[in-house]
Amino acid sequence: MVKICVLHPDLGIGGAERLIVDICVGLKSKHHDLDLYTNYHDDKRCFDETRNGQLNIIVKCSWFPRHVFGRFYALCAYIRMILLSLYIVYFSSSTYDIYICDQISACIPILKQSQKPVLFYCHYPDQLLTKRQTLLKKLYRYVIDYLEAYTTSLADKTLVNSQYTRDIFQQTFGKRIDISTVDILYPTINEINLKDQIIDNSLVNNIPPNVKTLFLSINRYERKKDLQLAIQAMAHLQSLLTDEQWQQTHLFVIGGYDRRITENVEYYLELDRLVHDLSLESNVTFVQSFTDQKKLVYLNRCKCVLYTPQYEHFGIVPLEAMYAERPCIATNTGGPLETILDGKTGYLCKATKEQFAEKMKLFVNQPHLYLELGKQGRRHVIGNFGFQIFSQKLHDFVQELLERRKETTTKNSRRFMIVLFGAVIFGYLFLINTGERELNKPNAYLVINYRVSLLTPRTCQQGAIVTFWACQLRKQLFDMSIREEGIFCDTTLTATPGHSAHWDYEHNGPDTWPHEYEQCEGNSQSPINIQKRQVRHDLTMDNLILNGYKNASITWNITHNGHTIVVTPSSTAKITMSGAKLLDTFNLAQFHMHWGLNAYQGSEHTIDGRKYPLEIHFVHSTTPPDIRYAVLGVLYELQGTDNSQLSDFLSMINQTLNETMKIGLQSIDISKLLPTMHSNLHSSGSGHNLKFYRYNGSLTTPPCKEGITWTLLSTPVAISARQLQVFRNNSVKWNFRPTQKLHGRNITANHQPEFGEGDDEHDGCETKNKGTKLNNTIVFLLVSLFINLHNL
Ligand SMILES: [Zn+2]
Repeated sequence: MVKICVLHPDLGIGGAERLIVDICVGLKSKHHDLDLYTNYHDDKRCFDETRNGQLNIIVKCSWFPRHVFGRFYALCAYIRMILLSLYIVYFSSSTYDIYICDQISACIPILKQSQKPVLFYCHYPDQLLTKRQTLLKKLYRYVIDYLEAYTTSLADKTLVNSQYTRDIFQQTFGKRIDISTVDILYPTINEINLKDQIIDNSLVNNIPPNVKTLFLSINRYERKKDLQLAIQAMAHLQSLLTDEQWQQTHLFVIGGYDRRITENVEYYLELDRLVHDLSLESNVTFVQSFTDQKKLVYLNRCKCVLYTPQYEHFGIVPLEAMYAERPCIATNTGGPLETILDGKTGYLCKATKEQFAEKMKLFVNQPHLYLELGKQGRRHVIGNFGFQIFSQKLHDFVQELLERRKETTTKNSRRFMIVLFGAVIFGYLFLINTGERELNKPNAYLVINYRVSLLTPRTCQQGAIVTFWACQLRKQLFDMSIREEGIFCDTTLTATPGHSAHWDYEHNGPDTWPHEYEQCEGNSQSPINIQKRQVRHDLTMDNLILNGYKNASITWNITHNGHTIVVTPSSTAKITMSGAKLLDTFNLAQFHMHWGLNAYQGSEHTIDGRKYPLEIHFVHSTTPPDIRYAVLGVLYELQGTDNSQLSDFLSMINQTLNETMKIGLQSIDISKLLPTMHSNLHSSGSGHNLKFYRYNGSLTTPPCKEGITWTLLSTPVAISARQLQVFRNNSVKWNFRPTQKLHGRNITANHQPEFGEGDDEHDGCETKNKGTKLNNTIVFLLVSLFINLHNL
């Protein structure tokens, strides 16, 4: 029995994790003893094998931060893995005969200190996955790339997922790595897991009943997946079919979707637009996120899977399709060339809509074609990508390595330590000197690649220097994002129509407001970012009472004041907000909206850093002479289909797109603009259980008057991208103010906020000790590396 140590950075539920789990299970099936070390493992978000005791999971070094203020994920992942390998080699009581790691090669030299063979699984050369725009970033990547090539070359054997990746590997690393040490281990379909799954057709009910030929695309909503090819091919297919055939043909685009990821949101909207432009609404359906069980139903109902990505390194979807006895049409590039047998288990063609449509037509005209190709597909998958084959190959590699143990020289390790030391210092300088925004990260701002010089710290103590720099960095980036993208704000109470004050969101934007309006620099400004973990659940908070909100007979004037659209009730209307510790009954004076340039910005308040595309402010006040304000804020969130409740209102908005436009005396049922609890709103007034956050803030437009009681509903209302377009046709392109510092204010809620994914993003500038902790961590790391270097 061989004792094996496997290392993997973050044991989540991605493709790389699936593979590493398969590797572990495969080796165990060959009776090897195995420990799986990782930096991170969450019982709620992992593969079954890692939580049901089948594998021995050891989590270490999770204390090191995963990112620094939302950045440097890669650098932190490197450091975490290096620390993990240091732990295994120097501090763990177990000894191993062989080490297996993947993704991050930087730990290989440390593992080699143990004089045991190291097997590295390279999913794809890391250096091909990153962009490098600035000189500093290029330099930084030069060091990292050198490190990657050098450390990878120390592995006794490297495995890649396809011949295609092996070729790329050779081109990338050239002579620096002996290509004879690189072998192919195809990922496995792991049919053992799939065998017992039961297909429950009742899980899926959105397939139109008349559909005879269903095409399926399974891919995340990412541009590199080329999903538009499937949609364009569908449009072309229409020209090849009779009307009757066309009506019975449908494409389902199902794919992983995370609304916190900008690319997912943007790309989905683009595809949705494409479907409308091509008039394919009745023949194309999008599904955003789905369970494995639902995927099986879609696979079972389809006649063919369209696999559109080009130059995919491997691609597991064609294997899943073939295992489900469904043929696959894929591009004749990358991994599919090695997995699909053209004409036998599917079709390989050029990435053009014409070629895809030609092959799709075959499945419409020959209703039983899929059965024949499907059967061959399944045999092909089990015979070549089955779990037995996979495990046996892996076992052979392990045996081979044990037989020819390669000696590691200390010289190599020392060289590595020097390089590593240099890289960490370099990374440290990089961290405080340059900002680079990654579009795909949740909570990221809209500025790419903006270099900020921070070499002149002003007043700061030694210990807090990193905090200071990082906060400045973030602040400057944020300010930049305001100037470049135009972030926005409120507008209304002060500026009446025709009286546009000397402020706006562009040239005289939020950062200049304090020049003329001192209060805008106050300590209780709005909007704010609401961090759920800082919210206190106020158990004594009573219900919010909205009176007259559901009264369709009230008439309204709609005007544009140069900053926003303002909707004012007729003077006789009696609409009030009270309860919820408001101390008074406040009358609705008007409501207005805040929107953005695109569908992933627009709201003024953010929740755990997340922006929403639209926010409506219902401004209430008490009667003179002692006028006080209470604002009710409602957030809107993107959904695929129109919210029919909003249609009437939006068509009125559409008539007031600039200051010359104005409509009077319209009936609007404003309860439709609130979250779905209309039935709880009575014209006579009634208490109900709307969930909300409460804090003291200000108007979000000049003069930024403070002392405003804010009530922000925590449940967003749905709106579609098409409906949002109304606001974007506006003469004011965007109008939201960026979030302001909290300055120790309390935020309460009448409920216990639910924590979802992504709640770990927060504003580092508000929490000083985080930065200090980071600083200490870096110092610790530098010192420990120095000691290590010294000892060699
Ligand atoms: Zn407002």
